[in-house]
Amino acid sequence: MTTIFGKIIAKEIPADIVYQDDLVTAFKDISPIAPVHILIVPNKEIPTVNDVVPDDEHMLGHMFLVAKIVADEQGIARSGYRLLVNCGDDAGQEVYHLHMHLVGGRKLGPMLRRE
Ligand code: 5GP
Repeated sequence: MTTIFGKIIAKEIPADIVYQDDLVTAFKDISPIAPVHILIVPNKEIPTVNDVVPDDEHMLGHMFLVAKIVADEQGIARSGYRLLVNCGDDAGQEVYHLHMHLVGGRKLGPMLRRE
């Protein structure tokens, strides 16, 4: 089933798209947690990391290349940034169309708080 991200990729609903090619689309998060918060999303609708298959390997590697390009364009390549992918309920995944968060533009602090 198409999620909100599928509709953004198809340009059926608006988003601030910063990069798009035949494999992935990158756009600004609607509710950013840092000065730079971009979502890098496969054009193919894959719900979660649990659903990736060997044929997706090239596209998944391409997501990292696009992350590097977008981080550079956003001016945070040298200061640093974080890439993260939530999978499923415990990780707090909200949109079930696989995506990588690119977050930066400030000191991000520890990745996880200890319980
Ligand atoms: P998740 O928790 O699934 O890893 O992250 C989903 C992200 O999508 C959240 O950071 C949320 O702010 C963002 N998001 C949800 N709906 C929209 C939308 O309609 N447009 C955009 N640009 N981002 C969205």
